[in-house]
Amino acid sequence: MNIAITGSSGFIGHHLKHYLELDGHHIIPWDRRVDRDISDFELEDAEFVIHLAADADVRRSIEEPDLYWDNNVTPTTRIQRLCYEAGVPLLYASSSCIHQWHKSPYGISKKVNEETAFPGQVGLRFTTVYGDGARDSMFIGKLMRGELKYATNHVRDFIHVDDVVHAIDLIMLRILEPHLFEGIRLRAAYDIGCGIGNTVSEVARIRYPHIDHKPGDACEAQDNTADITHIQELGFKPTINVLNYVQPN
Ligand code: NAD
Repeated sequence: MNIAITGSSGFIGHHLKHYLELDGHHIIPWDRRVDRDISDFELEDAEFVIHLAADADVRRSIEEPDLYWDNNVTPTTRIQRLCYEAGVPLLYASSSCIHQWHKSPYGISKKVNEETAFPGQVGLRFTTVYGDGARDSMFIGKLMRGELKYATNHVRDFIHVDDVVHAIDLIMLRILEPHLFEGIRLRAAYDIGCGIGNTVSEVARIRYPHIDHKPGDACEAQDNTADITHIQELGFKPTINVLNYVQPN
């Protein structure tokens, strides 16, 4: 099937693109990195849309809130309407920060995305995703590369990108083959995490026994552990545990 992925050159997008191509799908890429800005988004011959493109740095959103409205809200509202009017299914990236959306302009942008979605469109509330290709500023990558300067006492539900791709695949299947999921309702949004919270400092200590501690930024949720009841109803089981992943060889 023809599937448009926005943010197709980003961290989650490029893993998802690779997986869906191996599964035989034709991917229509939308990413600034391939000169296809979502402000020009058109459905072309897409039969399914997965919208991941966004500015995703919570702290930067405090400094540049307008950017987060212009890039995360305005194009998403348009993509939601285009898909709805054409009857094309849409999954779009939300975030676990939706549960405390008021803490940052980034959170507000995801909250608006969920509010403007049409019936049948599904929000993907990722927790803290890690794996090859994650943004350099992300904690697990810094830990693995030996670049960590301090740790906080935030509780984070770390989920590997392969498990995220698996969760997206299950939601796609629920939409495309509903008869396989008799009696299981499609939700307007799914928490996508492992359902396990680890403190950042506890994970850091596996590689840095004497790491410095700092209080976390107020714009970040103290705890983003997901309630994975609904994604589990679709058959989801996380396969990679962060505490094993970060162990030194
Ligand atoms: P990423 O920054 O690695 O990728 C985002 C991609 O979107 C980039 O390749 C960027 O070039 C592209 N993009 C941004 N604005 C664009 C525009 N106007 N036109 C075209 N392309 C544009 O981010 P990611 O980690 O892959 O996250 C994907 C989505 O998931 C985002 O919406 C993010 O908010 C959400 N999310 C991610 C996490 C996480 O832990 N990675 C957690 C919660 C939610």
